Amino acid sequence: KAMRNFVHTSHPSRVIFGTGTVGQVRDEVERLGCSRVLLLAGPAVAKAAARVRDVLGDLIAAEFDGAVMHTPVEVTERALDVLREHSADCLVAVGGGSTTGLAKALALRTDLPQLILPTTYAGSEVTPVLGETHDGRKVTQSSPAILPETVVYDVEFTRDLPVGMSVTSGVNALAHAVEALYSPQANPVIDGMALDAVGRIARALPALVAEPSDTAARADLLHAAWLAGTCLASVGMGLHHKLCHTLGGTFGLPHAETHTVILPHAMAYNAPAARDVMSRIAEALGVADAPSGVFDLIASVGGPTSLGGLGMAQADLPEVARLAVATPYPNPRELTYQGIESLLEDAWRGRRPA
Ligand code: NAD
Repeated sequence: KAMRNFVHTSHPSRVIFGTGTVGQVRDEVERLGCSRVLLLAGPAVAKAAARVRDVLGDLIAAEFDGAVMHTPVEVTERALDVLREHSADCLVAVGGGSTTGLAKALALRTDLPQLILPTTYAGSEVTPVLGETHDGRKVTQSSPAILPETVVYDVEFTRDLPVGMSVTSGVNALAHAVEALYSPQANPVIDGMALDAVGRIARALPALVAEPSDTAARADLLHAAWLAGTCLASVGMGLHHKLCHTLGGTFGLPHAETHTVILPHAMAYNAPAARDVMSRIAEALGVADAPSGVFDLIASVGGPTSLGGLGMAQADLPEVARLAVATPYPNPRELTYQGIESLLEDAWRGRRPA
């Protein structure tokens, strides 16, 4: 095979991984030179937040529990008031991509350091990217101030994530890995991480459905989330992420579920233009064909397979297709209105890719 020229940019953050790692959070806050924490945690992660509160003790200056999906600026403004009122000097976030998004939005405005304890597999904690909603429109930006300084992965913090959400969030991570492999910026470092993530996710999801508190499976998934998030941070994504962004931002579909439904179909669309990548993914999954293999994996663990099932109106599909081809972006296969419309039709019906 021909030698490959490449460029690799990494986004430095300090990553602590394991079980019981929450015990290190106080030391990590002090390592950042901070002593007045604004703790961000929603009611769904009350148990994890209580553990963080125990560990941080008097380092907590204030708390805010109002993070919601897609980071609306009104919520950020309210949290900013709390942050200023209590002179917080650092942000500690416990939660999924929505809570991490709020921490990032606050860091962007104040330059305060962030420590994130993820409770889903979305991967946002290792990216310098933030999507914010102004007047119902989602705008994405990237900046070094957005990248969290420290990530503490505690497998215990994911143990209570319900199986259904573990499946969809795990496939959200899988999507980062898949699109990284056929990204124009792909490089050998990222390829290695992406294929490692694919293999871990394929192993972990069935194990988790059999036993939701399986520690090895939880650890595999969280490790994969870190790897896949790192891929997302380093290289550009394609058709799949673009479609999910439109479906979430403009049509209000839920983030992880939408990724789960779209992924096999975006892969099937791109497969003719990314044969080598698809065969490497298939090998990591242990199947003969990657798009149908991903569909079967999702179906076998009870994940959602149709846009119709997520509440998407069939009449809106042409508008999604129009938006998907309106502004060009890199993708292995040329984007045509008809091709995208038929992809969406398949996803809406929940057809297994051939
Ligand atoms: P989320 O953070 O909205 O969480 C989904 C739901 O699960 C919420 O109700 C939450 O409270 C609950 N939850 C979270 N952890 C739980 C746990 N351990 N147990 C029980 N319930 C729990 O969803 P998400 O999928 O993690 O993140 C989606 C958001 O993150 C979207 O807005 C997306 O755009 C953004 N995102 C951004 C990036 C990036 O790099 N900027 C990457 C991925 C996702």
